[in-house]
Amino acid sequence: MESNLRINGDRLWEALHQMAEIGPGVRGGNNRQTLTDADAEGRRLFQRWCEAAGMGVGIDKMGTMFATRQGTDPDALPVYVGSHLDTQPTGGRYDGVLGVLGALEIVRSLNDLNVKTKHPIVVVNWTNEEGTRFAPPMLASGVFAGVHTLDWAYNLKDAEGKTVGEELERIGFKGEEEVGARKMRAFFELHIEQGPILEAEGKDIGVVTHGQGLNWTEITLIGKESHTGSTPMKMRVNAGLGMARITELVDKIALEHAPDAVGAIGHCEVYPNSRNIIPGKVVFTVDQRSPDKAVMDAMEEKLQQGARRIAEEIGLQIEMQRVGHFDPVTFDEACVTAVRNAAERLGYSHRNLISGAGHDACWINRVAPTAMVMCPCVDGLSHNEDEEISKEWAEAGANVLFHAVVETAEIVG
Ligand SMILES: [Zn+2]
Repeated sequence: MESNLRINGDRLWEALHQMAEIGPGVRGGNNRQTLTDADAEGRRLFQRWCEAAGMGVGIDKMGTMFATRQGTDPDALPVYVGSHLDTQPTGGRYDGVLGVLGALEIVRSLNDLNVKTKHPIVVVNWTNEEGTRFAPPMLASGVFAGVHTLDWAYNLKDAEGKTVGEELERIGFKGEEEVGARKMRAFFELHIEQGPILEAEGKDIGVVTHGQGLNWTEITLIGKESHTGSTPMKMRVNAGLGMARITELVDKIALEHAPDAVGAIGHCEVYPNSRNIIPGKVVFTVDQRSPDKAVMDAMEEKLQQGARRIAEEIGLQIEMQRVGHFDPVTFDEACVTAVRNAAERLGYSHRNLISGAGHDACWINRVAPTAMVMCPCVDGLSHNEDEEISKEWAEAGANVLFHAVVETAEIVG
């Protein structure tokens, strides 16, 4: 019976585009930022759809929505499945939304097929995954997993000084339920890849085994401002040169830990930033990532030593400060296997992937067995209104999600 189960791809596609009508962007994408009126409208539509599918919707104190399809065993732990409905200010139609509406489509399909499961299935919409209006990203799932406290989250402010707590209340989605009180048998999240690998290799499905760990090291180099024309080369203390050499070093370190490690400098400030002054100071942030904790540590160590050596050679003062960190994530072996088996059973081509971006699943993995399914997106483009996927990719991803969830929730009869 299980191998014949399929979601309704037409209905999923229609739901995705109905949701996209709420909080439209300017170029065909979406601006449905967290805790805005548009977010509230999207939430209400999602709630109506869940209730129409026979689910009761619970809301926790962070505004995360949990829609439950009952199982046959009242004592069985639920299988959770979902993602986020909020978008970037110039976001696409699928980032996050596919994971929530793909999960809803699972329940709609189970209803159509009149299939019961032993374990309840809970469809989740996590609050503020994107983190643009209120930093950091993955906020509600972080509170759920005990990474942040509720009070800290409530007091985060947007650019206008409005807080998360106030805005949750204003849009009517500050629930009563304690955050993190729910116990999960497993959590599954379907997401677009947001990278180019699946499309380039012509694969239908990414089986996500790990999430990249991240280190942000902010480096300040102090040299001496002086005239670019009249200062002899030997007398220069060029902070810009130090940054250039450290940029090379970061690239070399990442390549030494190929193929999964990456590194770059994406942020820099040059002082005084004048065409005819040798930079007296630069401040920049090194971004290093790897799915392996030992590699993360080794890369950070090489950066520390190498950067100090470079500064000394040029005569620069150096300060280094860690300004951001996530540990690498290893997803649950049984859940990952359920995803891979589902792709195999359904005849989809697949490969293992490491998630380069953060997701709610990365936090939930700390408190429940978790895995992710990824589908391709055109040119790897995301966080962009031009983000695009095909209906077939969405359907394949949702079918794999369906099988992994149903296998974990156990069909009855
Ligand atoms: Zn997302």
